[in-house]
Amino acid sequence: MRLRALDDLGDVAGKTVFLRADLNVPLEDGKVADDARIRATLPTIEEVLERGAHLVIASHLGRPKGKVKEELRMRPVRARLEELLDREVHAIRFPGQASAENVVTDLGELDEGPSAPPVIALLENLRFDAREEANDTSFAGELAGFADAYVDDAFGAAHRAHASVSALPELMIASGRPAVAGRLLQKEVEVLSTLLEHPEKPYVAVLGGAKISDKLATISALSERADALLIGGAMAFTLIAAGGGQIGDSLVEPDRFEDVRRARKQAEERGVLIQLPEDIVAASGVSVDAERSTVPADSIPKGRKGLDIGPRTVEEFARTIADAHTILWNGPMGVFELEPFSAGTRGVAMAIAGAKAFSIVGGGDSLLAVKRLGLEDSFDHLSTGGGASLEFLEGKTLPGIEVLEER
Ligand code: ADP
Ligand code: MG
Repeated sequence: MRLRALDDLGDVAGKTVFLRADLNVPLEDGKVADDARIRATLPTIEEVLERGAHLVIASHLGRPKGKVKEELRMRPVRARLEELLDREVHAIRFPGQASAENVVTDLGELDEGPSAPPVIALLENLRFDAREEANDTSFAGELAGFADAYVDDAFGAAHRAHASVSALPELMIASGRPAVAGRLLQKEVEVLSTLLEHPEKPYVAVLGGAKISDKLATISALSERADALLIGGAMAFTLIAAGGGQIGDSLVEPDRFEDVRRARKQAEERGVLIQLPEDIVAASGVSVDAERSTVPADSIPKGRKGLDIGPRTVEEFARTIADAHTILWNGPMGVFELEPFSAGTRGVAMAIAGAKAFSIVGGGDSLLAVKRLGLEDSFDHLSTGGGASLEFLEGKTLPGIEVLEER
């Protein structure tokens, strides 16, 4: 797969580029709590500006469900973007209030001519307009009205057929205007394509997190490509219980027993090693002062919840990780948010960080864990799209990517 990228954008000096970015950052007290996603798209912003283009940037933020929600305005994002770029970023009150025609006028007024520096403007939250999530062509048409060219850097939104990532680029292409991937989207697709198409073997996938139902499709897709699946987190308990183990009061999804048995059989028939936890840190409750002990993974007493993988499991997982040439990690090994249940996630993170393999981490909580451990620089790629990266690795066609493919 080859995506059209910034190299295919042509001459955009003095023209207006519409950039769909993923600026869906966590907010706290009206401020950006983590600006990683804003930073991740800066190379694209800077490259477009260097070419002398004006920039209209757009993103969604949270889930306003088609209505204007004061607490989900882009203002804090714009403030952070201004700090990072050290330049003024103009606020556009569209979508939500102003009409699209107003925006065109506003943008025209901002342009001070050929010798003035390029204008940067940030649209309001795209999801303030219900037509965004409906992939509505009239909305896409209004957005296209601001743009001579389109750049998509929103990997985190690539799995959704929404107007700004699907109908809009379609429309741009249909009207002979360029629609290309930004540097972040391009990098994500390059890295994840390698995992999908020709991973260097042995390829080890480490999966964890809360729910197995979220990741069953991933497990089944990975069992066609990986050599080993190491499974921790709460999702391990559904596998252990489906195999007849005693899991006490741990999180479990009994309606998935059949699915996990099938997935496991499928993996074993392909010769894929499935490694489950041997020991578990089990506690009387999900709190730092709960009574806790390390017990065998298949005999967790009643009244106890498994909240982390135990030290023997970390050792076993680390052994497989050390031999890998490619590692994909998605999902924490335990309730890493609480110190007494964070050792498993830390142990596995450090094993991957220290391994010789090409390593990739995806998933919002996994990235948070990596960040807390200060290990961001020890992985080869931190994927910014949780759901999008899993769907990509399942081999699905993502609407936001398909439209940018060279044809
Ligand atoms: P990611 O965002 O990396 O894809 P998930 O959202 O699937 O990961 O899962 C993360 C959550 O899973 C964390 O909040 C963590 O506390 C929880 N979790 C992991 N292990 C357990 C467990 N044994 N019991 C309960 N929750 C768990
Ligand atoms: Mg999560």
